[in-house]
Amino acid sequence: MLKAILFDLDGTLLDRDASLRAYAADQYDRTPAFHHVDKPVFVRRFLELDERGYVWKDRVYQSLLHEFGVEGDWEALLADYVTSFSRHCVGFSGLYEMLKHLRGKGLKLGIVTNGFTAFQDGNIRALGLHAYFDDIVISEREGLRKPDPLIFDLALRRLGARPEEALMIGDHAENDVQAARQAGLGAIWKENAYGEPPADADWTIRQLRELAPIVDRLLP
Ligand SMILES: [Mg+2]
Repeated sequence: MLKAILFDLDGTLLDRDASLRAYAADQYDRTPAFHHVDKPVFVRRFLELDERGYVWKDRVYQSLLHEFGVEGDWEALLADYVTSFSRHCVGFSGLYEMLKHLRGKGLKLGIVTNGFTAFQDGNIRALGLHAYFDDIVISEREGLRKPDPLIFDLALRRLGARPEEALMIGDHAENDVQAARQAGLGAIWKENAYGEPPADADWTIRQLRELAPIVDRLLP
């Protein structure tokens, strides 16, 4: 019987593209050194270099300074990102309705995210997600990263559920879907516009509101 649901954060609960676009536009406004470049050009290039979060921003800022011919301090830009990104965090449509629904069914909820502890924790707080989740696993804090199946074991142990009593929902074919299946959980792929779909997802959803009917069918 289904007891617990684990979620990825970036691209699954957090609309990272929209959040990063809003942050980059705000940082541009506050950084006159870049104003010889048009704002949409700056924002677009920021998002390209970021590669959906898989490139850390030390490299992104060094490239932006170099490409736009700016003599600047990448470390100050990075420090601004670390402290200010969370102010621009937005969740995907239907996020809170879905979480209330799942909690109303008595399910244990967890987040399993790769990333830096303080940064991810700040983003989770900014979205108000601590109120809905029983446990939050961040790779840096635990010394384990997806796709290592042990990170799912750890999360489930804390939630008091076995793998066959749990689902993982995420947008990354390997880190979320394939890895969760290997750890013995059911896996739901949250579709994204990038990359190949996973071969082994149990379900695919495009919107968070599609999750409740799937979960309801698995409950008595
Ligand atoms: Mg993700």
